[in-house]
Amino acid sequence: MKRIDLAKKYNTPLYIYDFDHFSNQYNALKQEFKARKSLVAFAVKSNSNLSVIKHFASLGAGADCVSIGEVQRALKAGVHPYKIIFSGVGKKDEEITKALQLGILFINVESEGELKRVELIASQLEVVARVSLRVNPNIDPKTHPYISTGLNENKFGIDIDTAKRLYIFCKNSEHLDPVGIHFHIGSQLTDLEPIKEASAIVASLVRSLEKLDIEIKFFDVGGGLGVAYEDEKTISAYDYVQGVLETIKGLDVTIVCEPGRYLTANGGEFLTTVLYEKITGEKRFVIVDGAMNDLLRPSLYNAYHEIEVIGKEKREETLADIVGPVCESGDFLAKATPIALCEHGDIIAVKSSGAYGFVMSSNYNTRGKAAEVALENGNDRLIRRRESVEDIWRLEEEFLDDK
Ligand SMILES: *Cc1c(COP(=O)(O)O)cnc(C)c1O
Repeated sequence: MKRIDLAKKYNTPLYIYDFDHFSNQYNALKQEFKARKSLVAFAVKSNSNLSVIKHFASLGAGADCVSIGEVQRALKAGVHPYKIIFSGVGKKDEEITKALQLGILFINVESEGELKRVELIASQLEVVARVSLRVNPNIDPKTHPYISTGLNENKFGIDIDTAKRLYIFCKNSEHLDPVGIHFHIGSQLTDLEPIKEASAIVASLVRSLEKLDIEIKFFDVGGGLGVAYEDEKTISAYDYVQGVLETIKGLDVTIVCEPGRYLTANGGEFLTTVLYEKITGEKRFVIVDGAMNDLLRPSLYNAYHEIEVIGKEKREETLADIVGPVCESGDFLAKATPIALCEHGDIIAVKSSGAYGFVMSSNYNTRGKAAEVALENGNDRLIRRRESVEDIWRLEEEFLDDK
């Protein structure tokens, strides 16, 4: 079905996802690992719809989760517990307890304090916790400005020396089994060098742990593979995998990677309907029915998304801001973007919206969250219905009568 017809059938604002694109991205990456033991764990936070997770699970993917809610989503969608990883810098006791009870593959531990909590909780439950430590390889940002999480100055991970000491601590603990090692140096990485550098640093820690009889089974290189939103050069799946493999020569490990954006970003589009054109002074605005509560990336990160007025690709274009109805000046989907003159009812596609799109949406301004639709083998099907106002106030209603 054409996008115009999808917009009519399901109404807008609407997210549409090309499940065939998701499959192609997954398969391209998975194939590069060939005979090596590998687990591609889909980063659930990039697109958490149950049907999306289920789709990746059906291809053989695992799930990288950053809250117990995401772990529960992964299980609900049919991911095998032994393919689920639980990461994140601030896990609560209840989350650790639940993760241990569910028997997931391992918990990615991000601090000494957290490791001690995991040990304590595992001992209370009388289980052995499979853990992996997230190490922070501290790559110099001056040479690699794209890195945003792999530096000592940010909140993620454990520095190399501390990590080594903590692995020894794990080895001596009855309730901790240090099965893995993990790093994740940032998102939207478009340069291979920092990944290789980080991987080499972490691999050398694995070698030195081997000498201490600590055998790491899972080498988790995180996510972060970048995609093209505009004309960015990106890392090919082949170069990425080869780059990592080079650094772990001689190590008998299962490689784990946790792509999110790479799998989903360019498989999604956000469809929104034009309400009005408006010119104030010199400035042109196209006012649409989608807003920052639906797609936050432009407002939050000043992120660029390509804009297409469907059916008007060949018309003359002038610059305009594409803005939504939310009462915030920061509510925009694009700024000063070239766009054809629009009429009421035109459909605009906001490209590359499959990752960090719907998942960051909110009910701000009492706007129901958009519907989500899957496209697969030429068919379309609803995978999340549009929220009604009753959905929005469901948890408040019962308190109206108790004054
Ligand atoms: C966010 C995140 C990912 C996924 O990042 P992408 O840039 O979407 O690939 C993977 N692992 C961890 C630990 C994360 O926090």
